[in-house]
Parts: sequence; structure tokens; C-alpha cells
Amino acid sequence: MIPMSKPYIGDLEVEYVNKALKTGWVSSLGEYISSFENEFARYCEVDYALTSSSGTTGLHLVLVALGIGPGDEVIIPDLTFVATANAVYYTGAKVVTADINEDSLCISPTAIENAITSKTKAIIPVHLYGHPAQMQEINDIGKKYNLYIIEDAAEAHGAEYCGKKVGGLGIAGVFSFYGNKVITTGEGGMITTNDKTLFEKMKFLRDHAMSNSKRYWHTNIGFNYRMTNIQAAIGLAQLNQMDSFLLKKDQIFNFYEKRLKKYKDLKLNFCSSNMKNIYWAIALQINGFVEKERDKLIKSLYKKGIEARPFFYPISSMPMYRKKNNSVARKSSAQGVCLPTFYELQESQVAYICDTLIGELYVP
Ligand SMILES: *Cc1c(COP(=O)(O)O)cnc(C)c1O
Repeated sequence: MIPMSKPYIGDLEVEYVNKALKTGWVSSLGEYISSFENEFARYCEVDYALTSSSGTTGLHLVLVALGIGPGDEVIIPDLTFVATANAVYYTGAKVVTADINEDSLCISPTAIENAITSKTKAIIPVHLYGHPAQMQEINDIGKKYNLYIIEDAAEAHGAEYCGKKVGGLGIAGVFSFYGNKVITTGEGGMITTNDKTLFEKMKFLRDHAMSNSKRYWHTNIGFNYRMTNIQAAIGLAQLNQMDSFLLKKDQIFNFYEKRLKKYKDLKLNFCSSNMKNIYWAIALQINGFVEKERDKLIKSLYKKGIEARPFFYPISSMPMYRKKNNSVARKSSAQGVCLPTFYELQESQVAYICDTLIGELYVP
């Protein structure tokens, strides 16, 4: 079976984890936490980075620290992992979904502007499948209407917009280290920001809002959203190899593109000229496909030893967030499948995946 994704865990991860265990710092204090945060901040070209227990809790922490809550509205793209919506919901604010661009699959600036009301407080663009959202246009809208821009960069470690790394393009950026993300800590997340006040506030809230000067004294409702030193040890080892992981992702995308670009009904990931897509996922759209055909294709691939997955379902199609049709998100979602990509995937395996796929699509 060729899986969708698989983390790469090598000797370095084992070495760092062993060191963390031997020091006895197994919980959320320890040197790997600060090293991981500092090196991640440097990688993203930002002043501050803060570890969190997951990408989801990282998003929630940013929103709470910015004071977003009941009565507010937050705009998110309709096509994203459900965590983006849930983090908003947890604050008591209303989730407002906006449609996406057909090419990049990221949130459409025009759709954002149409969704703004007097209650809108923030926008969370998602760099979907590794492609940066249109941050210039989104930041312009943010300025015009006085809104916070929070990047959901959970799938886009190392992606670039006009030569700048994602994570430093809004008030804050949030990354995920779940097992299938660019780098992993098992579970975990990281918040990046250039805003010192926000950073301090998030750090405070992450640790049950405990007073800095008086232990066990709390003046706010806080959370335990901390990462452990053991997780940070894995994360630091992964971060040290991230550039080679990204090179490999790029190479794998090229293997797919070489074999699929001649089929005019197939559309692989798009890359805007001023951006660096890191191709976290191989996102293939089959022109005109509806959900049923897509699901049938995924089943047939599975029978031939290939794991494929559907695109995310539009948030607006789910019972908790149901609202009127965002047409581009609906269409792209129904005709989209993600194909395997991971560090150890070989070109011969990509060839097998593409041959099998073409066989299923064009030979009855
Ligand atoms: C994975 C993911 C998250 C959530 O991250 P977790 O670490 O799994 O909580 C949020 N947004 C997007 C777009 C994601 O892909």
C-alpha cells in the first residue's frame, strides 16, 4: 500500500528525544522548547514564535489573545480543514465562510470584501495545500476595515509570498505539526508574530494566565495549550531537516506534473508567479467530476494499493456551519483528490500512481 503521507523519523529525532528524556525535562519546561521556538522564529523571519499543543489550540489562542469573542465575526475560506472554523467557534464568535479562487484554492479577496459587516473583527486566510493566499490584497482589506489578519499556515511551512516567508505576513501565523504536516512533533503547533504585546499575552494565556510575579495567582481564564519538551525535541530535529523535506516535496510534484500535464481535464496544484508553493499536498482536480465519481475513483485506487483522499468538504456544507452555496468551493471540492506525497516516496511509485490513475479515468 502506498500511503497518502508518512512522517520521516530518523536518527536525529531519536537522539534529541533520548537527550530530553535523560535530562528529566519531559513536560513543558526544558531547553528544546526554547531552541525550537527560537529556530522556528528565525526560519520564518519573525521576532517571536510560541509553541502550542496543536495548530487548533494555536489558532484559538491567537483569537482569544486578540479579544475576539461573542458578537464578533471572523471570515475564513470555505475550503479548509475544519479546525480553522472550530477555533473561531470556540471563542463564541460567528464563523463566516467566503468563497475561494479557482486557481489557487485560497480565499478570494473579492469574496472577503462582500462578507464584511460591522461585526467583522478578523480574517483567517489559509495557505491551502501549501500555496500562499493573496496576502497583499487581504492586508489592504484589513487596513481599510481595521481587521486583524491571522494566517493559517498549518499546511505551508516554508512557503513564500513575494520573497517573504509565510507566518510573518499578518498579525500572527499558526503552524501545525500533526503527523502528516511538513514537519511533525506528533501533535503540536507554533504561533509566529512580530508583535511583542500579543506574544506576551499569548504566552500568559497558554499557561493558565498565571501571574509572572505571584505563583498560582490568576486574574484571567487561561488554558493549558503547552507543548512538551519531548515533542519540541522531535520538532527541532525535524526543523533541522526541513529544507531537504521541502526539496523532496518539490521534486515529487515535478514527478506528478511530468506525467499528468498532457491531460487537459486534469489540473494539478497551481503556483502564482510571485509565490513559492511548497506542495504540501498533491491536489489534483478532475474537470467536471462530481462527488460520486470522485469517491469511486478513490475506491478503485485503493484496490490497486494507492491511498488517495478527497479534498476538504466546504465548511458551509457541514451541519454546524451550513449556509448558502459558495460555488467555487463546492465545485473544486467535488472534483478534487489528494495523491500520495512523502519524503520517502520514489519516482517509480509516482509513475505507478499516475499510470493507474490514467487507466481508471480513460479506459472504461
Ligand atoms: C492541520 C490543520 C489545522 C489544525 O492543526 P492541528 O495541529 O491538527 O490541530 C488547521 N488548519 C489547517 C488548514 C490544517 O490543515
